[in-house]
Amino acid sequence: MKKTDKLSVSERISLTLRAYKTIKKYVPGLMPAILIKALVTALHPFATIWFSARILNEIAGEKNLQALIILALSVVIINFIISVVKGRIDILHGERENQMWRYFSKVFADKQLSMDYVDIEDVNIQKRKDKEKYNLFNFGNGLAQFVWTINSTIEGAVSIIASVAMVVTLFTSTSENAVVNSPVWVLAVFAVIVIGMLANSKVFKKNNDMFMAWSERLTPFNRLYGFFGFTLCKDNERAKDVRIYRQDIPADAGLRKLEEREKAERSYYLKYNIGEAAAALVTGLNYVVCYLFVALKAFFGAFGVGSVVQYVGALGRFADGIQKLIYGITDNAVYTIHLKNLYEFLDLPNRKYQGTTPVKKRRDNEYKIEFNNVSFKYPGTETYALKNLSFKFNTGNRMAVVGMNGSGKTTMIKLLCRLYDPTEGEITLNGINIMEYDYIAYTSVFSVVFQDFKLFSFSIGQNVATDIAVDDRKAIDSLSKAGFSERFVSMPKGLDTPLYKDFEEDGVEISGGEAQKIALARALYKDAPFIVLDEPTAALDPIAEFEIYSRFNEIVGDKTAIYISHRLSSCRFCDDIAVFHEGELIQRGSHDALFSDKSGKYYELWNAQAQYYGVR
Ligand code: ADP
Repeated sequence: MKKTDKLSVSERISLTLRAYKTIKKYVPGLMPAILIKALVTALHPFATIWFSARILNEIAGEKNLQALIILALSVVIINFIISVVKGRIDILHGERENQMWRYFSKVFADKQLSMDYVDIEDVNIQKRKDKEKYNLFNFGNGLAQFVWTINSTIEGAVSIIASVAMVVTLFTSTSENAVVNSPVWVLAVFAVIVIGMLANSKVFKKNNDMFMAWSERLTPFNRLYGFFGFTLCKDNERAKDVRIYRQDIPADAGLRKLEEREKAERSYYLKYNIGEAAAALVTGLNYVVCYLFVALKAFFGAFGVGSVVQYVGALGRFADGIQKLIYGITDNAVYTIHLKNLYEFLDLPNRKYQGTTPVKKRRDNEYKIEFNNVSFKYPGTETYALKNLSFKFNTGNRMAVVGMNGSGKTTMIKLLCRLYDPTEGEITLNGINIMEYDYIAYTSVFSVVFQDFKLFSFSIGQNVATDIAVDDRKAIDSLSKAGFSERFVSMPKGLDTPLYKDFEEDGVEISGGEAQKIALARALYKDAPFIVLDEPTAALDPIAEFEIYSRFNEIVGDKTAIYISHRLSSCRFCDDIAVFHEGELIQRGSHDALFSDKSGKYYELWNAQAQYYGVR
């Protein structure tokens, strides 16, 4: 660990408290389970020690049978109650701790969902996320370490308090022998305890540093291991290429190499164990001095045999408590560093301007979109993906956007949906800059089928409704408008048919074209006033494509629609065609008007494509 990594005590306290709050929020029930478990585990031995001492004192002293029976029954009952409580709390704690990994995923999912889209495409931010996720899920660094350690830290603190309370009379009681009564003994006992504490703390710290360095060394190694042993073979998307190009052979060789490297790391375990053994030796010497003191005091009549049991037991607990507390404090220094990194990532601010203006749902569906001199560069790039884009677009309009790949069509849609904000210029909805609107309300105006849309491994109905609750009639109607009816009737479970086999054995695999139809149905189901279709027929066969075009007006109904395609013939049906070229809108008009301009880009593109697609 570098020196600069050290955190101040107040930073450590505030990070630990924040971890407590995070766990409380994301893993409900785990913190109370930890607290109760720690209290019960710490106090249980003291109950046994205290009652055993009383019973032995009674046997060695007054021998009152009634008192003995009451004491013995109390031990039995208290132990029974503690065992029941412990059993229950162990189950609850175990369950919650097993579940915590699932909840940890939600910590990252929440951040991913709330971050600006621009950050999702930012490689550096995604790398940071991967690093934090990897550290947590592979080593438990940070939050999981906190959960594992806080348990024993509380246990240690409670043990120390209880044992001090139980051992006070050892020092206050006097024996017949003046030498044994000497305060030097008290000092000696404290001295060995302090030496023991320091030795343990040093070993823990050394071991922790060693673990940190070891896990650092293993990070790239584990990532490779995960790739060769897991991703490469498990990932369905890679399965075809893995087979055809026999990628399993280099993967096996890679795994073997990694195993050799892992063997070389084994000396780490040995060093770790030597440290632990040294600490155990010092603790053992501690016991010897403490027990000697107790035995001498008892020998010279300071207390009875029962109290010997009490003091010896309590001192044992004290040493154990100290060890746990030191472990907790040392580990806290390590996990708070990880927590700091995690929270720095989670606290990354969203830079996008968040407006508050509500989007009025207009009965007349009158929405006017206007691009005013909009230019845009992707973050980290120097070239403009869009240049001085200006156009108006009214409700009920149908606009087709055509142009070669890379001409800026999709970028225009991303700006319209506020996934990115313009570098220059502004976009307005009904005269107001779209940045002024409440973002969620604004996005509710749009239904978009992105070129690289994704469906999910839920039922087909839930995919269309994007909700658990599905309006069956509306979903079936949307699927039918999207041209999916024929395939849909062959699905035995109808809307409940699961998509893909990730979660359900009877899930159906669908073709790219079918997926595109379902994505279109999802956009129609949302029933937003604007519908944007980005290359909606790219994965469809020519017949399905023709079907969609010929029914396009019927499909989008009274909605305002923007239709994007690099294939010009797909857009012929549209009265308003915008031609994009190298980030600029260079022509706009109907097919006939554009085609008649023999020097225009549209004419050139049309003729170029006609050769391949056979359109005239
Ligand atoms: P189209 O939809 O017309 O095929 P795009 O709008 O996707 O074109 O792309 C326009 C330009 O922006 C292209 O030069 C493309 O390489 C670039 N581009 C697209 N997405 C990104 C991105 N995330 N980061 C950087 N450049 C991008």
